[in-house]
Amino acid sequence: MTLDCIFCRIATGDIPAQIVGRSDHAVAFRDLSPQAPTHILVIPIRHLASAAEATGPAGGELLGEVMALGVEVAATLGLAESGYRFVMNTGREGGQTVHHLHLHVLGGRQMRWPPG
Ligand code: 5GP
Ligand code: ZN
Repeated sequence: MTLDCIFCRIATGDIPAQIVGRSDHAVAFRDLSPQAPTHILVIPIRHLASAAEATGPAGGELLGEVMALGVEVAATLGLAESGYRFVMNTGREGGQTVHHLHLHVLGGRQMRWPPG
């Protein structure tokens, strides 16, 4: 838990968020500024600044759990058939603005490619 990290504080319930799912080591909640009709963020409860810190077997396991919760929440929210997009912005050129690893789950509209 990092006191000045917004997502650590959401994970502990210190800052309110619309929680849509949980697993042992991850939490899913609605993005404050949705970029699609459904826009969920999935975070590990443990603070990792980005995917670049998710190294080794433990990092891989945590990333797997974050993605598995993303899949579960997408299905719960009715996106399994229409589809959805996973995005994990990493570092400056990746466009990451909150430095606690998070997976975006976007759905409910046609996604375009290439991304900006
Ligand atoms: P990034 O740009 O780092 O990939 O994504 C950060 C995301 O966090 C953005 O989509 C932004 O809207 C979202 N966000 C930032 N602050 C908060 C907050 O306090 N609560 C919630 N629910 N989402 C937030
Ligand atoms: Zn954090």
